Amino acid sequence: MTNLLEIKNLNVEYKTESGFGVQIKTVKAVNKLNLNIKKGEILSIAGESGCGKSTLAKAVMKLINSQSGEIFFDNKNILKLKYHREIQNFYKKVQIIFQNPYSSLNPKMKIGQILSEPLEINTKLTKDEIRKIVEDKISLVGLDKTALNLYPHEFSGGQRQRIAIARSLILDPEFIIADEPVSALDVSIQAQIINLLKELKQKFNLTFLFISHDLSVIKYISDRIAIMYLGEIVEIGLSDEIFALPKHPYTMALLSAVPELGVTEKKEKIELKGELPSPENLPQGCKFHTRCPYAKEICKLKNPIITKFSDTHMCRCHLY
Ligand code: SF4
Repeated sequence: MTNLLEIKNLNVEYKTESGFGVQIKTVKAVNKLNLNIKKGEILSIAGESGCGKSTLAKAVMKLINSQSGEIFFDNKNILKLKYHREIQNFYKKVQIIFQNPYSSLNPKMKIGQILSEPLEINTKLTKDEIRKIVEDKISLVGLDKTALNLYPHEFSGGQRQRIAIARSLILDPEFIIADEPVSALDVSIQAQIINLLKELKQKFNLTFLFISHDLSVIKYISDRIAIMYLGEIVEIGLSDEIFALPKHPYTMALLSAVPELGVTEKKEKIELKGELPSPENLPQGCKFHTRCPYAKEICKLKNPIITKFSDTHMCRCHLY
């Protein structure tokens, strides 16, 4: 399979300001990050809140600036796109689904208008052709055509997320970023939405970057998983490799905190020390050393290099 997305040495920083608007610190949210996503796969990024996963999603969507590095989509460096038409083409192929469908749907527009708008802006289709596509897409996500005449507030959270998914599909994209798409939903509804995303992936050969802090959801949907900690990928592998043979102490700790996954029942729970450090004060050496139960002297001094366990499974840790 060829890579649809290739991220090389990506750095994303932002500045924090004091109460009086004085610039005080540079926060490194994404650090020299490398990641490939193959056409047709679901790659998930897992990690605690504040680890940089949503910042990475926004950088790939060009919603925020990246300081350096390259992001190739379909072999084109999207950070170098300048012309309106190039950027418009990119947004036809790449779409994002957010955590809160209510805030991403205009409350003053009917669902039919919300779904028609991208087609009116980006194509020369007739009104009838647009209507037909909109009706197809709304039934594709399991809603009736009557939904098109209603406003977002007239739907439940799960239905609104179905509408957001329909809107993400309206221009027939190749790649979808799903940023915590089920975190705001009841557990019973979460499974329905995840199943819908899996069906759509199969049907249209879509590629997904799926972001979640919930490892049970990630286990169910992912082909590959990347574990992120303070702006870096610390472990990456096939879903089975990560769940059956986790290598990085951070991955082990995340898995051991979810006993129902059934992969760590014979292993002891790994307690993480303290909270996730602020990205304003990144630790030297291995960024995980302040919380790692296996930290050694070298961990405080040197960031580990990548160790490969197979063609697909690798991690950054001085234990290997
Ligand atoms: Fe822990 Fe050291 Fe490995 Fe970092 S490099 S995860 S501190 S053992």
